[in-house]
Amino acid sequence: KTFIVIGAGILGASSAFHLAKTGAKVYLIDRNEPGQATDAAAGIICPWLTQRRNQAWYKLAKEGAKYYSTLIQLLEEDGEMNSGYKKVGAISIHTDEMKLDKMEERAYKRKEDAPELGEISRISSSSAKELFPPLADNYSAVHISGAARVNGRALRQSLVNAARKNGAVIIQGNAQLIYNAGKVIGAKVEEESFFADQVIVTAGAWAHELLKPLGVNFLVSSQRGQIVHLRLNDYDTSNWPVIIPPNNQYILALEDGSIVIGTTHEDDKGFDRIVTVGGLHEIFDKALSIAPDLYDCEVVETRVGFRPFTPGFLPVIGPLPGFEGVLIANGLGASGLTIGPYLGLELAKLALGKSVDIDLSLYDVGGAIELLK
Ligand code: FAD
Repeated sequence: KTFIVIGAGILGASSAFHLAKTGAKVYLIDRNEPGQATDAAAGIICPWLTQRRNQAWYKLAKEGAKYYSTLIQLLEEDGEMNSGYKKVGAISIHTDEMKLDKMEERAYKRKEDAPELGEISRISSSSAKELFPPLADNYSAVHISGAARVNGRALRQSLVNAARKNGAVIIQGNAQLIYNAGKVIGAKVEEESFFADQVIVTAGAWAHELLKPLGVNFLVSSQRGQIVHLRLNDYDTSNWPVIIPPNNQYILALEDGSIVIGTTHEDDKGFDRIVTVGGLHEIFDKALSIAPDLYDCEVVETRVGFRPFTPGFLPVIGPLPGFEGVLIANGLGASGLTIGPYLGLELAKLALGKSVDIDLSLYDVGGAIELLK
């Protein structure tokens, strides 16, 4: 069977990799959107402390975090050693011991069916500072040993490389769907046409325009995220844990000594990929209130990406209602690094006609479309 995957962010790259691994013929098409969410993202894999109550979302996040160990092994077997993933643990910090009690309780409860979260320990402010020296003096923490950091750019590249090694053909350019009487049969990239048994649309925040010619209004919205990379000299940061502060930001160290701080969550900004005064102000202000010793760091770059959200902040996956030959997955929102590799695996299974491990009715694509008149 032949498959076309449109969109090589983390979701499409994972899907193409898993399809190619089965020996299927795969075309992976991407037009290198500069605002690709995956490329801008560097983040945390630690879904277990969340206070979000949506079980359908949590299932994906939990399975996603768990799947990483298998994925990294598969990538290493294909010679991809720089996946940007490392289980460095996370410390969720607070000045309020009661809040930390609650967090610890939540972690133990979640551990019952997620042993992969590892060891849970309560640490003093001085231990927290030993683990992450730029931290302010007054934060104690809950330490979660199974949490990880991941660099979206590196992981995506590893997945694409491994897909190629398994026979996938990587095509750069803008794809348009080729369809005929309710059936999607391929994709056109500039003047070249490609045909497949199934076309998989993983086009993130840009999926709407791809599906519009089918008479479908796909309800995906984009949320801008600005994120800043700093350089902290004179420290070996390679094993520093991810910092989860009481505000909605995070701080993490990458392999190369960069410190990543962010991010903004800006709705209704369209696809304007600019770095703003307000965005940087928020990021610096919040980061310095947590880790004042970052003050003298060099600012290396700011990345901007667009997170794709579908209705209810819940991902969708499955066939496009009313059409044959096309599968969609989207809506990874703010947790796509966590969910993406796993959902890409499930998407590959779905395309191959294999049974999947998730209840598809919870993530129905029909909930994210309107028919255009
Ligand atoms: P994208 O990565 O946006 O990929 C979509 C791709 O489709 C693009 O490459 C584009 O070129 C391609 N495309 C679109 N239309 C076409 C077309 N017509 N033809 C060809 N190609 C097309 N998640 C976490 O779990 N933890 C985090 O800490 C975290 N931090 C984040 C920080 C920032 C700043 C941002 C922006 C996101 C963060 N996320 C995080 C969320 C995560 O990055 C996203 O949910 C995820 O990357 C979305 O992946 P995707 O593959 O669906 O979309």
